[in-house]
Amino acid sequence: MRANFKLTRKRVCAMVRADSMTGIRFATTSAKSDFTSVRYKVERGPFAEVTNNHIDYFRRLLGNRTVTDPEECEGYNIDWVKMVKGNSRLVLKPKTSKEVSEILKYCNLNRLAVCPQSGNTGLVGGSVPVFDEIILSMKLMNQIISTDELSGALVCEAGCVLDVLDNHLDDYGLMMPLDLGAKGSCLIGGNIATNAGGLRLLRYGNLHNAVLGLEAVTANGKIINCMNTLKKDNTGYHLKNLFIGSEGTLGIVTKVAIHCPTRPKSINLAFLGLDNFDKVLTTYLLAKKELAEVLSSCEMMDDATMGISVDMLGLQNPLFKRHKFYMLIETSGSNPSHDDEKLTAFVEKAMDTELIIDGTLTGDPTKMRQIWAVRERVGEGCLLDGYCFKYDVSLPLPYFYKLIGALKQRLDMSRIVRISGFGHLGDANLHVIVATPEYDSGIEAQLEPFLFEFISQKKGSVSAEHGIGFKKTNYLEYTKHQSAIKLMCEIKKMMDPNSILNPYKVLPQ
Ligand code: FAD
Ligand code: ZN
Repeated sequence: MRANFKLTRKRVCAMVRADSMTGIRFATTSAKSDFTSVRYKVERGPFAEVTNNHIDYFRRLLGNRTVTDPEECEGYNIDWVKMVKGNSRLVLKPKTSKEVSEILKYCNLNRLAVCPQSGNTGLVGGSVPVFDEIILSMKLMNQIISTDELSGALVCEAGCVLDVLDNHLDDYGLMMPLDLGAKGSCLIGGNIATNAGGLRLLRYGNLHNAVLGLEAVTANGKIINCMNTLKKDNTGYHLKNLFIGSEGTLGIVTKVAIHCPTRPKSINLAFLGLDNFDKVLTTYLLAKKELAEVLSSCEMMDDATMGISVDMLGLQNPLFKRHKFYMLIETSGSNPSHDDEKLTAFVEKAMDTELIIDGTLTGDPTKMRQIWAVRERVGEGCLLDGYCFKYDVSLPLPYFYKLIGALKQRLDMSRIVRISGFGHLGDANLHVIVATPEYDSGIEAQLEPFLFEFISQKKGSVSAEHGIGFKKTNYLEYTKHQSAIKLMCEIKKMMDPNSILNPYKVLPQ
């Protein structure tokens, strides 16, 4: 067993190819025809339509950062997975909080609906308009304001790209507390608006914990200053938390203060092959016990997911053979020999007890990037299958993978290209992909509400990290109690009485 493991370890060094986006073609036919409002039969809210007078006002305010060219607007109207499509003819690109404030004040007075957009990598249809809402793009609010090496507090505008912030922090020995496959495109304001989770939530917690303060502009144009760089501030209501995860329905996040942890000196990665899901769970428990404080990520994927990376994207399987399940376990710490010893001891124990069949272990940054790509690029690779129904759910670990079995029994498999399950095992967060050659309303009807009922029965959540957006508004009640939804509606009414901010999203219609 051990020899096999070591052999694999050498092999991965030679075999894994570079992570490259080159040559990837997407099957993008799915959203070409249908507007969201048509496909999902949505009724337009009582909002005004954009007129030339409105456009003149915005031109005076923003100059050529007022985009009306239909071709340029097109990209802002379609989401990353090509699942939803809006019909907005106006994109505004403010550079300051004052400009955001002027825009919202004007839109509120004139009953113009607004769809905030950052990197447009959201996966629940929240970041593009449903009808002709004005798109407020945050891309140009991208200044880093301050970095405090001692406290770890980073202050920046909401439009900074996550990866750019992480690279900036490297110079200070710090890192961003979140990391996700979309890091090269998503913006920190979008991350906060969705309360994004990602690959290391297990170690660094969620954004309610990491965000120290923020500035947001409410629907009437008021700039709400909740900026703060203190780790501890227990003065009154924690208003920043209202905006974290509110998906653009309560205000536009314009500035952020975030606590950034120290960048670890030593990182190691194990990629393991297993033959059943019970062993995946036992291996996770062992990892928690053996790796304790250095465990920074615990991901799992099934073989259908490996198929996306290997067969669709052409990435190399880090192991010799295909297995039913794979785990990716990362450690981060400050003492390379101590961390390496711990990970090796854990893997040896897992092999001795026959939990894992095969595995590879590396601390080499290039090889780790290559192995991570096999997991991180799944979201991108599955689009090559055709149309993807994507779900992001929390389930108690004993039921975690049972959902995939239930779907295989339920769905008409002759119309399905692939069902795959993967995700952040350490956070009990399963991602499900059901791929069809093209958008298939019959399969959607077999999936929903069945999948959400399954989750509700098992006391899970219909959204672990991607949010509710447009796609899940009808299923909020499967996780949230009616009393909580009612209070959410009251808060929305109080903060945005004309409902101009991201209508048709989050709250039940
Ligand atoms: P957008 O998609 O532009 O917007 C998301 C939502 O926030 C929309 O409702 C929008 O209206 C609102 N919004 C945007 N900016 C603001 C603002 N400044 N103020 C108020 N509201 C705003 N998500 C995870 O949680 N974990 C993952 O591991 C993960 N992996 C991913 C991997 C890939 C390959 C992809 C494509 C996506 C992944 N996602 C993941 C989903 C997505 O990247 C996150 O939800 C991300 O936080 C969205 O950021 P964004 O800048 O793209 O925001
Ligand atoms: Zn995820």
